[in-house]
Amino acid sequence: NNSVLSKSPNVMFVVRRNLLKHSINHIMNKKVLDRYLRLPLPCNKILATYVWIDGSGINMRCKDRVLDCVPYCPEAAPFWSFDGSSTGLATTTNSDTSLRPVAVYRDPFRADPHVLVLCDVLKGDSQEPAATNFRIFCNKLIEMHKAEEPWFGLEQEYTMLDVDGWGLGWPKGGGYPTVKYQYSYCGVGAKYMAGRDIVEAHERACLYAGCDFEGTNAEVTHASWEWQVGATVGIKAPDDLWMTRFIMNRLAEDYGVDITYHPKPFGMLHPGIGMHHNFSCVKMRSDGGYEFILECIKKLEKNHMKHMKVYSNEVWSNKMRLSGKFETAPFDKFSWGVANRGTSIRIQRETKAKGKGYLEDRRPGGDCDPYLVCGLLMETCLGGSSG
Ligand code: ADP
Ligand code: MN
Ligand code: MN
Ligand code: MN
Ligand code: MN
Repeated sequence: NNSVLSKSPNVMFVVRRNLLKHSINHIMNKKVLDRYLRLPLPCNKILATYVWIDGSGINMRCKDRVLDCVPYCPEAAPFWSFDGSSTGLATTTNSDTSLRPVAVYRDPFRADPHVLVLCDVLKGDSQEPAATNFRIFCNKLIEMHKAEEPWFGLEQEYTMLDVDGWGLGWPKGGGYPTVKYQYSYCGVGAKYMAGRDIVEAHERACLYAGCDFEGTNAEVTHASWEWQVGATVGIKAPDDLWMTRFIMNRLAEDYGVDITYHPKPFGMLHPGIGMHHNFSCVKMRSDGGYEFILECIKKLEKNHMKHMKVYSNEVWSNKMRLSGKFETAPFDKFSWGVANRGTSIRIQRETKAKGKGYLEDRRPGGDCDPYLVCGLLMETCLGGSSG
């Protein structure tokens, strides 16, 4: 439906007649815009785009604020507020909701001195975390386990869609690409690839912004891709992941392309979309770390269903993805293995050989909240209640 809370469209589950037929953004005359972009701003004014996660837990919002000087750290950026009732986070009669700056990035859309300000959302009346604010949960655990220096490496897979909800470059009228999946993974060639300009622009934009952007590759499904953030210490990993999501969604607007992180956008016959979480701490990275990794895996097994309930935005869509096919382990059966991509947790061959390293949690869906997953990995493996 068209409610403000409807998630990014995906072909299987959205009533397609409600979707747009065309995107207007990329056909607007950029030369006209350029006239205005060339107007110099007053020398004491910069533009700050405040960015936050809305009540859907996956879509992001932004709005601009003119500041008198560049905030080089989040503490220097003012608190702000917005209408929580229009973003699924509050009621109309109690709608003022707070934005607390938590990280500042360079703005790749406008360039220096303008900034993007990542915020977490607090309820306006109590300053408690809003319903979809899991950053506080994550940050508490990171503070608690500071001595263990948790590192995260996040692999964000995603799919590019036309605004009509169908895969970018997929045959119109419900057809499927005829080329085999194997050709698209890390592929080259016009027949196999769709949307590389966006990938290229995104990579540059994220590095410019200051995200710990690490790499990118094409995925097995036509028009699906992946980027990696990490390996980054502490809260910067999930912060950067959310900011790289924002940059992707905003950038794809310029191309009239919609981005979805849905775990199973084209149904059961096609591969799914995940976000592997690679995780390590001092104990895992030091001699004897392999034994500690095995201990952690035992704890993860005990908590399997607890994790599965929150490892994607909607449990059922990740359940579809974790079918036991397309390099996944079944949703309700925990497993692990060395160099095995059909398991819940994979240990790299090198980690076993060296006796230390990291583990890869392959279970989170593409639309998971990395604050929640990173938080739970620390809570389960390293202990401590978040309260
Ligand atoms: P694959 O697709 O084979 O799983 P990728 O290169 O896409 O491999 O992802 C590997 C991830 O592992 C990267 O995000 C990287 O940052 C992360 N990583 C590597 N070493 C560590 C480590 N010691 N702790 C946590 N994450 C790590
Ligand atoms: Mn207003
Ligand atoms: Mn990968
Ligand atoms: Mn992948
Ligand atoms: Mn992986």
